[in-house]
Amino acid sequence: MDGIAENIGFYAGYTVVLSNSKYKVLYFHLDPTGTNNILEKGEKRTVKMGDVIGLADNTGFSTGSHLHYEIHKIENGKERYATKAEMNALWPPPF
Ligand SMILES: [Zn+2]
Repeated sequence: MDGIAENIGFYAGYTVVLSNSKYKVLYFHLDPTGTNNILEKGEKRTVKMGDVIGLADNTGFSTGSHLHYEIHKIENGKERYATKAEMNALWPPPF
């Protein structure tokens, strides 16, 4: 998904938020270290689909490496969890 990626730091593990006018996707438990830190903490960057914005890891309340993401829909200035149909409409998926 094209949008703005922002490293918001530690929130349920290292977290990057990817957003545009319609969706906000949160990626948790990412790798915060060294050369794997794609975005510095607090950094925002305009990204295109396919750009790497983070690497899956095991930070925060997590017992094994996995990609944990949430897709939120922005509608009329409000944010809510996306429905299954809205998630399916995002193709390719945002991971
Ligand atoms: Zn998780």
